[in-house]
Amino acid sequence: MRLDEIKGNEKLVERLTASIRSGTVSHAYIFEGEAALDKKAFAQAFAKAILCENNPGIGCDTCLSCRKIDHDNHEDLIYVEADGRSIKDEAVEKLQAKLRVKPYGARNIAIISDADSLTLRAQNRLLKTLEEPAGGAILILLSENMENLTQTILSRCVKFRLDYFGKESYEGMLDKAEEVADLLLAGEPFYKRKEAIAGIIKDAGKADAFLDALERVYRDRLIEPAEKGKLYKKSQIYENVAIIEETRRQIQRGVAKGYALKDLVIKIGG
Ligand SMILES: [Zn+2]
Repeated sequence: MRLDEIKGNEKLVERLTASIRSGTVSHAYIFEGEAALDKKAFAQAFAKAILCENNPGIGCDTCLSCRKIDHDNHEDLIYVEADGRSIKDEAVEKLQAKLRVKPYGARNIAIISDADSLTLRAQNRLLKTLEEPAGGAILILLSENMENLTQTILSRCVKFRLDYFGKESYEGMLDKAEEVADLLLAGEPFYKRKEAIAGIIKDAGKADAFLDALERVYRDRLIEPAEKGKLYKKSQIYENVAIIEETRRQIQRGVAKGYALKDLVIKIGG
């Protein structure tokens, strides 16, 4: 994904593009966003925009650097991920060793997923890197809730909150979720329910955003009793939200998204 393909975060994207083009990119960022957001995809799009040879600030998808990022084999991009439940001290030590190596291109970029899971010791070690980043390196921390990070880390990073993004906007997904909720309320037969979510089943990347949107639709109905809200019993809405949460857990446990969604539209009531 290129930076300009990230929807729903236009102001942030504009700001990042401007900072790359004016040479004022910061050396450390925290991007916070819900679990359902593919924050790594966002970080890769940002890295692409920084390193792109043809179209810096946005990326081009065709230069060597962009293609390497797409293929997950860019030499200057360093990924740090949780090992089990946490990112430990040793992982940060390894990262620091890699950052000491001169980049092939303009600079090294480290993407730290699940930064919330950095142990306190690991955070303290990372602090040194944040204080004196080696030769133009950029650190990108991805977090679900940045309150899990120490103040000293937070104070050394530029912090942004990510909204829903994707090639299809969250707003588009809300319309879809509304349509599906109406259909479920009307008690339509299974084949019609399945038909309504066919597009989402086909493109698994949309499943999380769809679940979030559907939950939002139900929660909105709780506070809009005047119109559509009166069609639902409150207890039914809570039950539906519980089914959505169970579907998320199934997906986290490794159940195929398409299967979990089909199960959802069978179980949910009007
Ligand atoms: Zn490029």
